[in-house]
Amino acid sequence: MNTVTCDNCGRDVPAGTQDTCPDNGWSFDPRRFGYYGGFDDNFAELLEDVAEVTMCHECVVSLIEAFPAFKKHVTRGGHPSINWNGEQPCTETKPCCNYCWGWSAEDRDDGKSTINTYVVNDAGEWELVRTHIQ
Ligand SMILES: [Zn+2]
Ligand SMILES: [Zn+2]
Repeated sequence: MNTVTCDNCGRDVPAGTQDTCPDNGWSFDPRRFGYYGGFDDNFAELLEDVAEVTMCHECVVSLIEAFPAFKKHVTRGGHPSINWNGEQPCTETKPCCNYCWGWSAEDRDDGKSTINTYVVNDAGEWELVRTHIQ
């Protein structure tokens, strides 16, 4: 399993979806914050081609919860309830955070499946938002 290191907490975390991006975390170029007066005058990365900040799931959740400016952009259902290496950070009764989504499938007698999609409600619990037959 490929891993990347969180620039904030230093933990190695799974990177199964893309080689340099943490599963259910953030990977972004801080130079995109930049403009005249945008705190980027002395970014060391400006002298190089590569600039990237990697943040694991837990650090992203801490950032979102600490600053409403981020929270207004990350709403319910922001990331899937699995890591792409097969880990299940959520359980049937407890979501990993308030921003994940999950699903379940039930086989039907007619050979089709009922697919249920869930997000986390204000009480921090799974809430069914969509059911369809596939
Ligand atoms: Zn972290
Ligand atoms: Zn989460």
